Amino acid sequence: MQRLIEGVHRFQREQFGHYRSLFQKLSRQGQSPHTLFITCSDSRVLAELITQSQPGDLFVVKNVGNIVPPSTVSGDTNSTAAAIEFAVQVLRVSDIVVCGHSQCGAVAALMAGGADRQIMPQLSRWLDLAAPVRRVIEKEYAHLTGDAERLRAAEEENTLFALENLQTYPCVQDRLVDGSLRVHGWFFKIATADLFAYDPESKQFEPLAGVSPPQP
Ligand SMILES: [Zn+2]
Repeated sequence: MQRLIEGVHRFQREQFGHYRSLFQKLSRQGQSPHTLFITCSDSRVLAELITQSQPGDLFVVKNVGNIVPPSTVSGDTNSTAAAIEFAVQVLRVSDIVVCGHSQCGAVAALMAGGADRQIMPQLSRWLDLAAPVRRVIEKEYAHLTGDAERLRAAEEENTLFALENLQTYPCVQDRLVDGSLRVHGWFFKIATADLFAYDPESKQFEPLAGVSPPQP
């Protein structure tokens, strides 16, 4: 806790000055983020850091395993669904990114059969939402023998499964049809900070492209 408190003081002392006018503007005008960014709760995946975004840019949902439940799953309460509706209907984001990542503990647990239902009943039920990913890996990736290869395939398939489920929400469907919303599957490799984007044509995660680096 001491580290957090020191960090707060350091931010206020050394950083806030650079952001003061931005925070004041956002406080006055409200938020207008361009992107809903759905990623894993993993402490190594920092949406704002890896995209160099500023306050007000991203509406971020972090949950265990960057899972998007299908719209038909209501459960007790579905906070991810609530965030999708708010971002799409009220904030009118233009893009949604689902960003999976390497060394994902949630996907590893999923592949190992899920969490212990006695000790972690909530986590167990949550991971069950992504059980179809395990079946895809067992069926379509049987040729992969190494654990690391299987885990990477599962992490990528889990991202695509979330992307697929995202498109079961009526509000998302409507805005995809009228062309005012785009959805993207991204993958973040922790060790190198490389980002990959799913290319529906090649059916592969390709190095993120599309923006030319600034000319010297
Ligand atoms: Zn994760």
